[in-house]
Amino acid sequence: MIEFDLGYFKKVAEDIFRCDSPTGYTKNVIDLIKNYIDSFGYESRILHNGALEVFIKGEDSSKVVATSAHCDTLGLMVRSIKSNGKLALTALGGPITPTLDGEYCVIYTRDGRKYTGTILSTSPAAHVYKDANSKSRNIDELEVRLDEKVFSKEDVEKLGIQNGDIVCYDTKFMITDSGFLKTRFIDDKASVVILLMLLKYTSDHHLKFKHDTKIYFVVYEEVGHGASMVDKNISEFVTLDMGCVGLDLAGNEYAVSICAKDSGGPYDYELTTRLINLAKENGLTYTVDIFPFYGSDIGAASRAGVDFKGALIGSGVSASHGMERTHIKGIENTLKLIYAYLVK
Ligand SMILES: [Zn+2]
Repeated sequence: MIEFDLGYFKKVAEDIFRCDSPTGYTKNVIDLIKNYIDSFGYESRILHNGALEVFIKGEDSSKVVATSAHCDTLGLMVRSIKSNGKLALTALGGPITPTLDGEYCVIYTRDGRKYTGTILSTSPAAHVYKDANSKSRNIDELEVRLDEKVFSKEDVEKLGIQNGDIVCYDTKFMITDSGFLKTRFIDDKASVVILLMLLKYTSDHHLKFKHDTKIYFVVYEEVGHGASMVDKNISEFVTLDMGCVGLDLAGNEYAVSICAKDSGGPYDYELTTRLINLAKENGLTYTVDIFPFYGSDIGAASRAGVDFKGALIGSGVSASHGMERTHIKGIENTLKLIYAYLVK
């Protein structure tokens, strides 16, 4: 069984989590991932929509199996520039917007400039606004205060900022001594790191994959159509994405969640059962769950007309799409399950 290399995990996680990659602005993170893949000696290509496809010849070529993680995250875009020099926002994907109040952010202009700012409520000062506490924090009541001397829309335009510019908020990445990965965008960058750890291990140890295998680093998952571009010839597809935690769900931050059903309906019965059995046989900590408000790349590939068996596994993530957290144990259990499925 694959060993979990904590030092390597920390290094790769820091690299991947520090690279801003909101959905629609993923070139930098894909280039970063491709560098890792190249260094492991695996063949890969960047697809037209920006995703990365890795191809690995397996011991058996009678079928092609696939796995994926999505490297696009939630984020924001400039909706308009206000007459007072603040930036109105639109969301990329579905962040819990009240958690954004007070976050530091970076604005990326299309001509390559970068500016910093802070996301604030439109009633941001306790000494001035009666509703500073009670005002809704939905996206229309949040705005960016730029760290530039600007008083008008024209001042902002002179900086090269325009509608449609990308706004990224601070991930606050950290790994605690108690083993928690505490950062935004564990969904789904933890899975990106897991796949890189898997490929480093199989490359270092010259291990063979069971079947011909395609590994996708998907973009546009957060807006629903991520894995619509996967190879039509795949017959099985186990995607790695976050496990849900809360209410009556069994999932937790220390286990690999195996999803039986999400908003799009049930996952493949036989493949899901096979993954449960693999988790059992390998002594992994796992849970089987229903994800109530959830869609995944399995749904995207199915809707694109691919004929395959689909399943979903992933480490349990607390406070998803808000201030997320998981534990290294959950990541380790997920790594071991995808290893058992693909390699041995
Ligand atoms: Zn996700």
